[in-house]
Amino acid sequence: MAKTSDTCRKCVLDSATPGISINEDTGLCQFCEHFTSLSQEKIKEYGTRMDSLLKSPPENGKYDVIFALSGGVDSSYMLHRIKREYPHLKILAVQFDNGFISDTALENAQKFCALTKSTYMRLSLDQEALQVTFSKAANSFNAYPGAAKYRASDICNTCISIIKQKIIELAIQTKAPFIIFAFSPGQTDAPFVTLSKPILVWMRKLFDQNLKAMGVTDREPYLIDAHLIQPGSYEHEVVIIHPFLIWNYDKTQFKKECIQQGWIDPNLKDQNSSNCLLNAFAIKNHLDKYHIHSYAYDLASLVRQGYMKREDALKKLTIQISDASNEEIKRKLKL
Ligand SMILES: [Zn+2]
Repeated sequence: MAKTSDTCRKCVLDSATPGISINEDTGLCQFCEHFTSLSQEKIKEYGTRMDSLLKSPPENGKYDVIFALSGGVDSSYMLHRIKREYPHLKILAVQFDNGFISDTALENAQKFCALTKSTYMRLSLDQEALQVTFSKAANSFNAYPGAAKYRASDICNTCISIIKQKIIELAIQTKAPFIIFAFSPGQTDAPFVTLSKPILVWMRKLFDQNLKAMGVTDREPYLIDAHLIQPGSYEHEVVIIHPFLIWNYDKTQFKKECIQQGWIDPNLKDQNSSNCLLNAFAIKNHLDKYHIHSYAYDLASLVRQGYMKREDALKKLTIQISDASNEEIKRKLKL
């Protein structure tokens, strides 16, 4: 009888996913075979660096931190904790309105900004153009090459990239020295990313190429304002910080603490996101195209690092999108 597929006995990666192989002898995927966890000394060293950055930010501009706030558990918890640990910080919290965020997420974001005395900003772009862009992402194939496909779906990669570009733009415009993202230790492995001008030029060009590959013609609104990073423009270094690589990542605990602070569970049918209505559709679209579940790599990494139970991750990987909501999204994206 032909063998179907194997799942890694440590994480949740499956040999049915292109590029993943399970060692027959050990039962482990290639990532678990070569995994070594971060040492306590290293984590401590990162913590010291974060303290030294955030305790005395350079007095340059209106804000110390531009904070990416979705209104979901991770970013709501992080905003609250950052402000608790570094109360002096002037924070601009930016919620990107992609046209599909739930009302609860909007409410949660505003509530947590009020709670932490952060300035709230709802970032909106031309909604009609954005929907066309998302439908182009849904119809695209290989617009994001290589490892990007394992990190997120084509739709989410597009949305996240827009957020990154616009948040960096805001940091340069307001001369803010730091950007904070609530990425989990499964979503990123660099606690600090220093953005110099050449890196920004490169990031902009890369995303411009991704958009072009999708057939997006009007790309400027999604990219960092080119004037801000052209040769001779003001030199302003920004550091991105990912505090979840320094603090212990415990989502169950985060949710509990958020609810204590008045955070409302949107109770969506989607297991993976508590804030975006497009997410479940985006996962299905990606799975249909590439046979890659866009959360598998992220969840597998959390399990491997001991931040999540294997059975909980496996549960999250079962797709739960009703035909009705799938059709509604398709109609909205004119697919
Ligand atoms: Zn594994």
